[in-house]
Amino acid sequence: MAKYFGTNGVRGKLNELTPELSMKLAQAIGVYLKKGKIIVGRDCRLTGPIIQSAVMAGLASVGCEVIDIGIASSPTVEFIVKKLKANGCVIVSASHNPPEWNALKVVDSKGIAISWERGEEIEKLMNKSKLAKWDEVGKIEQYDNAIEDHIKAILDVIGTRKTQTKKPKIVLDCGNGTAALIAPKLFRDMGAEVLTLNSHPDGRFPGRPSEPTEANVKELIALVKSSNADAGVGWDGDGDRVIFVDEKGKYIIGDKVYALSIILRLNEQKHSGDIVTTVATSRVVEDVAKKYNAKVRYTAIGAPYLCEEMVKVKHAEDGTAKPTAIIGGEEVGGVIWPELSLAKDGFLTAAKMCEAICDKKLSVWLEEIPEYSNVKTKIDADEKKKKEIVEKVLAHAKNNKLEFVDIDGVRVNFKDSWVIVRASGTENYVRIFAEAKTKEAAQTLVDEYIKISKN
Ligand code: MG
Repeated sequence: MAKYFGTNGVRGKLNELTPELSMKLAQAIGVYLKKGKIIVGRDCRLTGPIIQSAVMAGLASVGCEVIDIGIASSPTVEFIVKKLKANGCVIVSASHNPPEWNALKVVDSKGIAISWERGEEIEKLMNKSKLAKWDEVGKIEQYDNAIEDHIKAILDVIGTRKTQTKKPKIVLDCGNGTAALIAPKLFRDMGAEVLTLNSHPDGRFPGRPSEPTEANVKELIALVKSSNADAGVGWDGDGDRVIFVDEKGKYIIGDKVYALSIILRLNEQKHSGDIVTTVATSRVVEDVAKKYNAKVRYTAIGAPYLCEEMVKVKHAEDGTAKPTAIIGGEEVGGVIWPELSLAKDGFLTAAKMCEAICDKKLSVWLEEIPEYSNVKTKIDADEKKKKEIVEKVLAHAKNNKLEFVDIDGVRVNFKDSWVIVRASGTENYVRIFAEAKTKEAAQTLVDEYIKISKN
C-alpha cells in the first residue's frame, strides 16, 4: 500500500503534506514522469505558494523543465499538459476540501491521473532520486496564457452561435475558488448575461464551503429565482466538479449533471458509443444510456480509474485502434469530455449546458432523467472484517445468480434498483448504498444487505 498516495494524489494538512515532503515527492514524481517538461499549477489556498515552490524546486532539482502556470483550475492545468505536449503535471489543490487542506495531484503525459498503485511506484523512487548537476538543473519558467488557452479551446468545441443569439441569463457561483478566474470570462465570451457570486479567489473560502452541495449553494438557488435566471452553476474549489440549478431554482445533483451530459453527448454525436462511470454512480446513467443504445462500462471509484478506462481501445477488423469511450463521469458531477483532455472539466460541462438551454429550458431537459431515492449506511469493520463482508455479499450474488459488478466492492443491479457494498479505503467501515424508485424500497434493500453482511 502506498504510504502517501491515496486514490487520487497525496492529501493532507500542512503538518502532513509539508514543504519538505512535497519537495521529496516532487523529485520522485519528476523521475517517474521521465523528466522533460512538467506543468505546475495550483488553486488559491493559502498554503499553495509554499507547497508549489517546494514542488517546483523538487522537480527542477532532478532536471525537469518546470512550466509554472500559477493559479488555475485543475482542468486548465490538465488541458495545458496536452496543449504544450508536456510529460505531465503536478496540481497543488485539495479540490473541494476545507481550506486548511492541500494536495498534490499528478497527471501523466497521456492525461491520465496517477492512481495509488502508480503512486506506490513513485514512492519507491523517493530519496533515491539523483540530483542534477549544478549546470543541468531544470529551468522554471512562467506561462501566462493557460486560462486564455483553455477558454479558447472550450469556445472552439462549443461554438457560440446559439448562445450569442439567445443570450441566456446565468448565475455563476465560483465559491471563491479557481472558477472565479475562468468562468465569468468564458460565459461572457459565449454571449451569456452573467451574474456572479463569490467571484474573487480567496483561499479561506469566505463565501461558502468549497463543496457545492445543495446546502452550500443556497445563495445561488435564491439568486437564480430572484433574478429570473435561466440557470445557475456552482463549482468546487478547483473547478472539476460542477452542479446546476434549473430556472425554477431546483438543485441538480452531480449524477444528474452527468446524465444530462450523456444526453447532450449522444444527441450531438448522433450515434452510440461507450459511457464510462464508477460503480457508485446513480442508475440514471444506465437508464439514459439504454435509451440511446449505449453501453455503460464501470470502473473502480476514483478519477484515475475513469481516465484509464477512457483510453482503452478496441481494434476494428482492419486493425485500426479506436478509443471506445465517448464520455466519462462520476456521481459528484465530474465529467470527462475526451476531445479536450481526460480531466473532469467543470467549465466545458457548464458551457455545454449553457448551449443546450438555448434549445429548451433546463427543467425540460431534466424530464428525460428518471427520479430515484437513495439510502446509505455504514457498518463498523476492521480490515479483516471488511474483506469477509465483501466476500459474503459476492457469494450471495453468485449463488442467487444476480447481476453484479465486483471491481470495487460488490454492486448488485436489479430491474429498477441497485445496491453497493464497499469497504472504505481510508476508514474502518463497510458502506452500503442503495438506490430505488422509492425511499422505502431503497431502505428495504439496505436492510437486506445489512443482514447478508452480518450473517
Ligand atoms: Mg475538485
